[in-house]
Amino acid sequence: MTRKRLLMGNWKMYKTVAETRRFVEDLQGLTQKTPLPAQVETVICPPFTAIGELVRWVNASSQPIGVGAQNVHFAAQGAFTGEISADMLADLGVKYVLVGHSERRTLFGESDEWVQQKAAAVAAQGMQPVICVGENQDERDAQRTLDVVEHQTLTALNGLAASSRGADVVGTAVIAYEPVWAIGSGRTPAPEEAQAVIGAIRQCVARACGAAAADRIRILYGGSVKPENIASFTLQPDIDGALVGGASLQADSFLAMAQAM
Ligand code: PEP
Repeated sequence: MTRKRLLMGNWKMYKTVAETRRFVEDLQGLTQKTPLPAQVETVICPPFTAIGELVRWVNASSQPIGVGAQNVHFAAQGAFTGEISADMLADLGVKYVLVGHSERRTLFGESDEWVQQKAAAVAAQGMQPVICVGENQDERDAQRTLDVVEHQTLTALNGLAASSRGADVVGTAVIAYEPVWAIGSGRTPAPEEAQAVIGAIRQCVARACGAAAADRIRILYGGSVKPENIASFTLQPDIDGALVGGASLQADSFLAMAQAM
């Protein structure tokens, strides 16, 4: 199966509504000369407060960009002050939701079990969960990378596999392999090393959920990706795209990455 390439920008806690508007104006201007490539699916995950603005612009323009969210609560509703549910995001026009980003796991104490419940809640609303997995520096030094990412992957996928459409739902999910030590650090693994881990993740999905789901699921690399290095990762056979933080904040580098993939 040919998997459509996917470029996702994670804006983290950057950009007000006015700054989001400036980004889309810049991108609109740049793409008049050089359109976004049709063979790459592009998604931006802004802060919650800018989702509405981005969705309105995407709907009003002919830009082939999807809108994602960076987090979600797994409950449908309830007394969870400050939280946002999956159906609230679906209602806004969100298509993808990051779950288990390493900043959520390390700074906000999210467990593998929470990530599992969040992925299931996202899929139940017809959106695609983007399950983030990755080892930290100590785990890498102890040569535990594969153990860590396989455990994180399997725990998250268990919640999807248990749903009524099981393997189908797993196939439409996305996994982002993001070594924690590579995020925002300017350091990356060698592309062959990222390929080896992502290839192992795909095999682990095949063992747990079947070959068809493993063949279909898209697996991204994330961690200090920029226009200059993105192609070295996306040329690898199992790497279907990239999840990008810092370099996705400027319209010109976002477009350059989509073109380079
Ligand atoms: C991220 O936040 O998911 C990320 C990969 O960040 P950066 O590209 O800045 O390393």
